Amino acid sequence: MSARKMPLHTRILIGLVLGAVAGLACQQALGTDHPDLRWWVDNVAKPIGQVFLRMIFMIVVPLLVSALILGVADIGDAKKVGRVGVRALAMTVLLSGIAVAIGLTAVNLVKPGIGLDQVQKDRLFELYADKADAQKKVEQAGQAKSVGETLLELIPANPVQEAARALEGGLLPLMVFSLIFGIALSGIAAEKALPVRAFMEGLFEVSQKVIGYAMSIAPYGVFALVFSTTALLGLDALSALGRYAVLVLVALAFHQIVTYSVVLKLIARINPLDFFRRIRTVMLTAFATSSSNATLPEALRSAREDLGLPRDISSFVLTVGATANQNGTALFEGITVLFLAQFFGITLDLGQQITVILLCVLAGVGTAGVPGGSWPMIAIVLTKVGVPPESIGLVLGIDRILDMSRTVLNVTGDLTIATCVTKMEERSGLEYRDAAG
Ligand code: ASP
Repeated sequence: MSARKMPLHTRILIGLVLGAVAGLACQQALGTDHPDLRWWVDNVAKPIGQVFLRMIFMIVVPLLVSALILGVADIGDAKKVGRVGVRALAMTVLLSGIAVAIGLTAVNLVKPGIGLDQVQKDRLFELYADKADAQKKVEQAGQAKSVGETLLELIPANPVQEAARALEGGLLPLMVFSLIFGIALSGIAAEKALPVRAFMEGLFEVSQKVIGYAMSIAPYGVFALVFSTTALLGLDALSALGRYAVLVLVALAFHQIVTYSVVLKLIARINPLDFFRRIRTVMLTAFATSSSNATLPEALRSAREDLGLPRDISSFVLTVGATANQNGTALFEGITVLFLAQFFGITLDLGQQITVILLCVLAGVGTAGVPGGSWPMIAIVLTKVGVPPESIGLVLGIDRILDMSRTVLNVTGDLTIATCVTKMEERSGLEYRDAAG
């Protein structure tokens, strides 16, 4: 198979393996502080890695704003569908909240990112960011503010200004602006809303295209970033990465098997094993494609044919959920942010961890249902807690298998919500009939 025809994720994996082997070989042969090695890292590898990362960062604001506005406008339409929308929304928040909490608990218990010594951490900062700058951000983030002040700051007086400093903490107010804009968009006359929606849809498509460009140079970017990291840190970086990947997979499996089963048993009152058996082709499609959007047609078919859900509820919940309900992604984002913080030696207090939970739940709503859709969101959450966003280059090389796995949860979550909401609706219907009869 020629290199061009090889699937992108295979090429990225090859970039990772070659980068790690080359970096380790140079480190062993020359020693970390060899001036030639430093020169190659600083003048060749680092800039190549940066090109790739900057392509992702440049598109964060348009992607986030358009995805959130459209996501919320769709949920806003749900008001017209009445209770179904409210119930689906409440379950999205509940399931995503539990998912991130599982992720954070796992990462706090196992601490996969701990283990580098101070010299290695300093090298990491040198490689990825200005340490003083990062520390300033952490201090700023940690400075105690009154609750009133904090809440007030969430409402931006000038959203354009927040957009301009999105990578320096303007993210949350920008998200709040997008939420309000989306709600308002769903509340105006359809013919007036149409052009704005069409524009947002176009913007969203263009943003995804740019992410596609960035991903097409990802194999080289990942090679360069992993080369730099292993050349400076050696095997320690790789073993931390291995611990992180296993932890993500175990936490995802826990949410898939335990949380969904409990919710299906308690709320929908059905047998979870039977449910998983019926939707197995959907889960396989999600795993193979790494994309909630690409899995949507199969999920819609399965909801009707395998689960027997009514068309109106399932098509509404699944279509909106393909973008807005991403529990696997929320869990993964929580673990990744905390792992990278540990790796860089940045301690997040409880308040900051709660901010991470909120941001990851919101980021789950704003993440596009495409392969690697979560990376722009992770970059902004990292900035918010003072971790250099460039550090995502470290974990990107092993992302494909994690992406395939979290996408399975994303679509299982949509089908779980559709099933629960249907059963709740049926029960309310019966209560009404009983009361009337
Ligand atoms: N690939 C995921 C999905 O489509 C999004 C992500 O987490 O990157 O659901």
